[in-house]
Amino acid sequence: MNKSNIENKIKSLRQELNNLNYKYYVLDDSDVSDFDFDKKLKYLNQLESENIEFFDENSPTQRVGGYINKGFKNSKHLNRMYSLDNTYSKEDLLDWEKKIKKILGNDDIEIEYTCELKYDGASINLKYEKGKLVSAVTRGDGTIGDDVTSNVKTIRSIPLVLNGEHKDDFEIRGEIIIPISDFENINTLREQEGKELFKNPRNTASGSLKLLDTTEVSRRKLDCLLYHVVEEVGGDRTHFNKLNKAKELGFKVPKDVVKCKKIKEVFEFIQKWETKRHDLPYETDGVVVKVNDLNLQTELGFTSKSPRWAISYKYKAEQVFTKLKSVSYQVGRTGAITPVANLEPVELAGTVVKRASLHNEEQIRKLGIKINDTVFIEKGGEIIPKIVGVDLDKRTELTENINYISNCPDCGSLLSKKDTDAKHYCINTYTCTTQIIGRIEHFISRKAMNIDGLGVETIKGLYEKGCINNFSDLYTLKYEDIINIDRMADKSVKKLLKNIELSKNITFDKVLYAIGIRHVGVTVAKKIANNYRSIDSIMKSGMEELVTVDEIGEKIAKSVVEYFENKENVDIINKLKDSKINLILEDEVEKISKKLENTVFVVSGVFTIMDRKELIDTIEGNSGKVSGSISKKTDYIVAGDNMGPSKKIKADKLDVKIISEIEFLELIK
Ligand code: AMP
Ligand code: ZN
Repeated sequence: MNKSNIENKIKSLRQELNNLNYKYYVLDDSDVSDFDFDKKLKYLNQLESENIEFFDENSPTQRVGGYINKGFKNSKHLNRMYSLDNTYSKEDLLDWEKKIKKILGNDDIEIEYTCELKYDGASINLKYEKGKLVSAVTRGDGTIGDDVTSNVKTIRSIPLVLNGEHKDDFEIRGEIIIPISDFENINTLREQEGKELFKNPRNTASGSLKLLDTTEVSRRKLDCLLYHVVEEVGGDRTHFNKLNKAKELGFKVPKDVVKCKKIKEVFEFIQKWETKRHDLPYETDGVVVKVNDLNLQTELGFTSKSPRWAISYKYKAEQVFTKLKSVSYQVGRTGAITPVANLEPVELAGTVVKRASLHNEEQIRKLGIKINDTVFIEKGGEIIPKIVGVDLDKRTELTENINYISNCPDCGSLLSKKDTDAKHYCINTYTCTTQIIGRIEHFISRKAMNIDGLGVETIKGLYEKGCINNFSDLYTLKYEDIINIDRMADKSVKKLLKNIELSKNITFDKVLYAIGIRHVGVTVAKKIANNYRSIDSIMKSGMEELVTVDEIGEKIAKSVVEYFENKENVDIINKLKDSKINLILEDEVEKISKKLENTVFVVSGVFTIMDRKELIDTIEGNSGKVSGSISKKTDYIVAGDNMGPSKKIKADKLDVKIISEIEFLELIK
């Protein structure tokens, strides 16, 4: 292809991907598979990185992150961002209506309102010039906010380019939120990786906007719901019309917005969503009522803090009280102990609640709760309710202190707690039955080896009979071992054996996750697998080298090293090897050239144009080799930001050439 053909191809791919993106993230109606989408995006990325003169900061390739913010600049809002006055009752709302009628000087005027849900996240002001997103700034103090443009670009539902042709500037406001299910997924992963849990979706959304690493932001699955167009738009001068225009431009405006002819209809809207809001994918804590007519809005104006033409109605946080009957303790597969509150059953937001997680000892101490106390429980973003406080007035002499256990509820061994951990652990790893069974359950789970048809009762039965001691024994199980256990039918046993056999095809990154190293969740396992490519090179690696892999901190690195220092684990790995489990990442990259044949690279640091994986794929795609550590055989080190210091020293010592990402791209040009 000549340059102008390449440029056209790049432009048409960008347009196509923008459209697909819009269909998928804004309209919720996808007509392309993830696989095809990724393939197109990869192709665009390749064309862009081979032709850096056509770089465009609003290309869909820029959504995946890869850029590290150096901090956030202050930015002054062209138009002040106000907050909203709150009301909590119908009476308050009627008073508000009376007040605005008085200001308008007409007690008989019929005012038309719009009702929207109040989305609970962080507000953002988006600015477009000639149809292209140029800035995204947080509310801040209303006058000055933080410029978080690079992070906001990763949000798929925000158009980087507006639909249609645009000469003028355009400003629009919305709320950055995180859907409840994504919030929960993040916390599940954080729990696996031993990180502190996030409190609620709102804080997670606003915290994510201020992350320095855009790749991490792009992983947070943020979304943006738009509620206010600053500019004049054509058509009738109403708020409702503006929201429709925003939709046409490609923004996500929730479809639940309604026009109300009378305040009575506003009450109906409020009532309808009182319970229905719990079925929404995101959190809402109220309703925002706005005067629809823009001329009336202008007449009403603003107070020093908020518009007079809008008001929010806040739902009361759903809280109930009940009695804390007892605390029980669960042992996880890593030995982590989780205390669970057993409650007098009580109804909350449509479900009967009997238990609540207490996370750890510190949490119990912070809450100051005792057995038999009357406690308040609330449903936040999480599905599992939490205890938020205690009614000390209701405390009687029947209350008892919670004596946190010191021994494992399963095997009775003394628990250990390190200062760096929030939880207590049973360290009796190889004889504590709950942990052994838990590790096998984890090994066969869907995101791991995906072995279907093996229930926990069967695992227990096989373990008690001595047929399996750990998950590596699954691969030597025989038909006779299983058929006698747990009344399994002939057909089910054969199917199970087939599923075990099939799991030998599972790729190395998933195997690495399946073996259950503490703090190594799905994403971390992928990172490590992509970097090291085989279990042997991970086992040979040390702390110092592991921490140079992005996102691998000391805690994870230490846990990996400790895992492989343990002889029992090494035996398990060897047995997996004998059973032909994938302990090497198969080369799945298609070779597109031989330009880098016989050239050995080491990749270190954080990159801007490509992410690490893409860089490695590009090297291998051009027939180069990627090694995990520097040696005399290394030809080049491709260094990004934050290259590991020990690598630098070693490179200098062995006189290996260090090149930048751009220089690398020159190599394969
Ligand atoms: P508050 O933070 O309680 O003062 O409420 C004002 C904030 O509510 C605004 O800054 C917006 O970020 C947010 N908000 C959420 N949903 C809406 C909506 N539908 N209309 C206007 N503001 C909204
Ligand atoms: Zn134990």
